[in-house]
Amino acid sequence: MSETIFDKLMSGEFPCDVIFEDDNIFAFRDINPQAKVHLLFIHKLRTTDMNDLSRQRPEQLAQIFAAIEKYTKENGLEEKGFRVVSNLGAYGRQTVFHTHFHVLGGEPLGSFGS
Ligand code: 5GP
Repeated sequence: MSETIFDKLMSGEFPCDVIFEDDNIFAFRDINPQAKVHLLFIHKLRTTDMNDLSRQRPEQLAQIFAAIEKYTKENGLEEKGFRVVSNLGAYGRQTVFHTHFHVLGGEPLGSFGS
């Protein structure tokens, strides 16, 4: 499994707006926001996509969602609601092959699909 751009963000080689970090989780603002608030949550230990993560490291899945719960509660997103998306593969339009969860909110969101 090769490195991705997210490794360079975690190491600080490339800048990003970090909004949450602990021993396991790294979260930052998406460079190309699709909503008023658009965050990306990743585990520091790389898997390729959400199915790879579920199969190999289910404990990491729980850690990522615990971080999303903590951040969204403490930063007012939970109150009005938000959306979590994880793209997988070509049809899902996944572009970075380090499992990540988009957190979208801060405003009423449109419907989604194709
Ligand atoms: P995907 O398309 O794989 O579901 O999501 C990858 C996301 O990473 C995209 O929304 C894209 O805007 C974001 N992204 C790609 N490169 C960078 C970067 O260098 N910095 C930040 N902050 N986000 C990035």
